[in-house]
Amino acid sequence: MEEKKHKAKEIKDHECSVCGYIFDVKVENPEFGIEPPYKFEDLPDDWVCPVCGASKVEFKVCKK
Ligand SMILES: [Zn+2]
Repeated sequence: MEEKKHKAKEIKDHECSVCGYIFDVKVENPEFGIEPPYKFEDLPDDWVCPVCGASKVEFKVCKK
């Protein structure tokens, strides 16, 4: 009966196709004025990968 709760929360992780960095929706981005939880889509277009500096277009959705 409890097993149905598994699909209640669907968080899509975005992975950097350049360095493999996994975007974490729970991480704060104070410099952009965004507080968690937020969606990857909520990030400004000039947001870049904190590891390698790749732009948002380099990120892909990784389904677990
Ligand atoms: Zn990266």
